[in-house]
Amino acid sequence: MKGLVIKNTGSWYTVKTDDGKIVESKIKGNFRLKGIRSTNPVAVGDRVGIIRNQEGTAFIDSIEERRNYIIRKSQNLSKQSHIIAANVDQAFLIVTIDHPQTSTTFIDRFLASAEAYSVPVILVFNKSDLLDSDEKRYQKMMMTLYDTVGYKCIAVSAEKGDGVDELLPLLKGKTTVLSGNSGVGKSTLINRILPEVNLRTAEISDSHNTGMHTTTFSEMLELPEDGYIIDTPGIKGFGTFNMEPEEITSYFKEIFRFSKDCRFGNCTHTHEPGCAVLKALENHFIAPSRYQSYLSMLDDKDENKYREAY
Ligand code: GDP
Ligand code: ZN
Repeated sequence: MKGLVIKNTGSWYTVKTDDGKIVESKIKGNFRLKGIRSTNPVAVGDRVGIIRNQEGTAFIDSIEERRNYIIRKSQNLSKQSHIIAANVDQAFLIVTIDHPQTSTTFIDRFLASAEAYSVPVILVFNKSDLLDSDEKRYQKMMMTLYDTVGYKCIAVSAEKGDGVDELLPLLKGKTTVLSGNSGVGKSTLINRILPEVNLRTAEISDSHNTGMHTTTFSEMLELPEDGYIIDTPGIKGFGTFNMEPEEITSYFKEIFRFSKDCRFGNCTHTHEPGCAVLKALENHFIAPSRYQSYLSMLDDKDENKYREAY
């Protein structure tokens, strides 16, 4: 039997089989993934095969090759990674101009790390209802900036519902990771898109198990019109480690475009003569905030420092 892993809590995996059944499964003892040293060999989004033993317990005994996966390096010293989700189609990065303010460094780091994993990102500017006229102008400027770089931007109010309709067609048929700093409105947005999730959370609270839904495990929420939202508490970017300067350049779309005209192939765009990126910056074709984020990632040779920045 084949299916999709939609939830992982400890050693249990919830699999939705191709004929629509929900099966709680464990991993077969001798099942190992080649090539990846990970704390969890199977993640939400994985397509797996399951079998039942004589007692009726379901076991995952095979996993289909992944199109992509998002990893986070474990905080411990084992150098293992934790796979957050597999087979992701896109990410929605929820940002706010105010209450709280999302920094451009945070946005740019997230975008660069998503580029590294070839995950397209759509920027969702939430809490638009709270902005005064100056902040509205600023939001418009930010949206123009990122739109010019090549990212779709949508302004919404998860609270009031404004703009949320624009997100629905983008979610259809896709597996979308929802990310953003704490407090930007991710839960509010999910409740707006999937009111039945709200219901379930309420039920849990009613039975005095309020802690239950604040799980640190990943879960895929099924959309009524085909597609999934991956609710992953605490991911602030995709694991990007040990990047060379040339790689960082390639993850900033507009910097990459200009870098092709730099005199030196290994130009770091910091001081080199004939640097087309510095020239573009001077001529306002590259936003200073984007260039600053690029520099801050160049500075992150020390990987611990990089992780703390998230
Ligand atoms: P999360 O940490 O990203 O899941 O953020 P929450 O969904 O818990 O939202 C944090 C706070 O912001 C809550 O008090 C929400 O009611 C509020 N909030 C979320 N979205 C909006 C919005 O669009 N407008 C306003 N005014 N408040 C919002
Ligand atoms: Zn250069």
